[in-house]
Amino acid sequence: MAERAPRERAKDFNPVTLGYTKEEAAREAARCIQCKKPLCVDGCPVGIRIPEFIKKLAEEDYAGAVRILKDKNDLPAICGRVCPQETQCEALCVLGKKNQPVAIGDLERFVGDWAIGSAMSASDTVSKQKMFEGRKAAVIGSGPAGLTCAGNLARAGVDVTVFESLHLFGGVLRYGIPEFRLPGRIIESELRYLKNMGIHFVSNVLAGRTISVDEIMKEYGLVFIGTGAGLPKFLGVPGENFNFIYSANEFLVRINMMHAFDFPNYDTPIYVGKKVAVIGGGNTAMDAARSALRLGAQEVTLVYRRSENEMPARRVEAAHAREEGVKFMMLTQPVEFLGNEKGFVRAMECVRMELCREGDDSLRCASSPSSDSHFIIPVDMVIVAVGLLPNPVVPSLTPELKTDAHGYLVIDSDFMTSVPGIFAGGDIVGGDTVIEAMGMAKKASEGMLRYLSGEK
Ligand SMILES: Cc1cc2nc3c(=O)[nH]c(=O)nc-3n(C[C@H](O)[C@H](O)[C@H](O)COP(=O)(O)OP(=O)(O)OC[C@H]3O[C@@H](n4cnc5c(N)ncnc54)[C@H](O)[C@@H]3O)c2cc1C
Ligand code: SF4
Repeated sequence: MAERAPRERAKDFNPVTLGYTKEEAAREAARCIQCKKPLCVDGCPVGIRIPEFIKKLAEEDYAGAVRILKDKNDLPAICGRVCPQETQCEALCVLGKKNQPVAIGDLERFVGDWAIGSAMSASDTVSKQKMFEGRKAAVIGSGPAGLTCAGNLARAGVDVTVFESLHLFGGVLRYGIPEFRLPGRIIESELRYLKNMGIHFVSNVLAGRTISVDEIMKEYGLVFIGTGAGLPKFLGVPGENFNFIYSANEFLVRINMMHAFDFPNYDTPIYVGKKVAVIGGGNTAMDAARSALRLGAQEVTLVYRRSENEMPARRVEAAHAREEGVKFMMLTQPVEFLGNEKGFVRAMECVRMELCREGDDSLRCASSPSSDSHFIIPVDMVIVAVGLLPNPVVPSLTPELKTDAHGYLVIDSDFMTSVPGIFAGGDIVGGDTVIEAMGMAKKASEGMLRYLSGEK
């Protein structure tokens, strides 16, 4: 897929990748050999009928391709941009054994974008069932898990209301992933489609505080919790409270949700240093590093304690970050932040790490400090992106909901929590990616329908 030149794109928040033309999409679709037993489908957590949508695409029946995609996935233009297809459907594509697998994600994006461009609405694709008409459900959280659950329940005829604590809907899609990877207009369009299905969206409601989960349950009788993992982890090393040490979440929320990327149209306060260090190796770290560059940092260094092979970020995002000028400092761990007399960070003391090859998981094996390898890196801003913990608001204010030792909601095989009628899915139960959250929410919605019909 065509991309903008790294030097040009690293200066703005416009999309990095440009999408397929019709001809490119047709060429790629024609590579699919329409396997009788399509392994690619096994790799898709929401079970998209991949060869069928690709066939329609090859036949230039775009509306037909949209119908097949939307039958299993309400967010194709989003998933086509951010899902790690390389470790899921594409990883199982038979063509990948000898050659490049079919670029399923890029084709999905093409079809999703075509649906948006042609203003296809839910009434063109969804036939609502009547079985659950008159039944109600509430969804707490509007990330990919909440949206997927809401869509599936609405299809079954349930009257669904989504409650979101923030002023905009979409969860991490909105506040975490930057415009240059996932433009806000794409999220808006996919949301419009869900609204056309009759789903009600209510913003600025912090479930647990504004209204208790108990009250929501009394009103709706059926609840899905998809409140995600929005609690940033920190390193817990001395000096982490110096000024200009951000959590990646705060940095990205200011940029994406509060429009700091759109200066001077929005005058959102954000500081970006000249020498920035980003700690971490996941998608969040890449997004923070690339955003800092775009906001004018002169040097951005990604500091990760393992090697590049172990980085959890998508390969393509790491490659894009490197092309744009982000420096990678691997096998390095900060052990202390040093500040100036005014309380602002000025340097990081780090230690070199080495990979331990012994544990039972050699891919993500633990790393241990080598002796005598301390060194100092001068910095004037640090972004900590070392992971997220489950959002504690709902569990802490709803003690009947059981959590595990890490704060994730405990669920059964139907994704029902310890409270009958309250289900959960996505990062709040331990997911890690958009499509995983959607897959869980799909299963939860099936459990919820079984609950409504008295089977559970
Ligand atoms: C910066 C970043 C980049 C990422 N990049 C990728 C990527 O490229 N590909 C990928 O597959 N995954 C990526 N991920 C991970 C992915 O975004 C998450 O796994 C996914 O969004 C989880 O979905 P969710 O619906 O469970 O939770 P979330 O997306 O976190 O949504 C939860 C929603 O619930 C709301 N909420 C929380 N508490 C309450 C409450 N009490 N009342 C009402 N609403 C509440 C929150 O405001 C939020 O809108 C990224 C994550 C981050 C942080
Ligand atoms: S495995 Fe690959 S070639 Fe086979 S149907 Fe799926 S996408 Fe097409």
